[in-house]
Amino acid sequence: MIFKKGFSYVFNENACKDCGGKCCTGESGNIFINEDEIIHLQTHFGLEKKEFRKKYLRKVDYKMSLKEVEFEDGFACIFFNQKERNCGIYPLRPYQCRTFPFWEYFKTHKEELQKECIGICYLS
Ligand code: SF4
Ligand code: SF4
Repeated sequence: MIFKKGFSYVFNENACKDCGGKCCTGESGNIFINEDEIIHLQTHFGLEKKEFRKKYLRKVDYKMSLKEVEFEDGFACIFFNQKERNCGIYPLRPYQCRTFPFWEYFKTHKEELQKECIGICYLS
């Protein structure tokens, strides 16, 4: 169980294996990634910067996001392992993914988070 100061819920990471990756699939969205994270991933895949960006990234204003692919009735992150239904780059996933579900946004969007993540348990 993971607790984080300032949040009114805890997160049970064991729930992920029963979930099927809801936070990596569904409606289209941005999965932002920073320069250091890009370098780690392109090194991991043994690709040149240009090739990696073309294959896996899209530009959103001044930031970079992971691409999505069509999946079931919606979309999945390009690194979502569709067979195993989990993250295919788990140790190298971006900060945005590593900090889920403890996002400032969810402090005020309780229903949305409850709908999305079965690992959440509200305190009291
Ligand atoms: S939605 Fe929650 S339970 Fe499901 S994979 Fe993501 S973090 Fe784990
Ligand atoms: S990088 Fe991994 S954890 Fe993040 S959205 Fe893609 S599949 Fe999910």
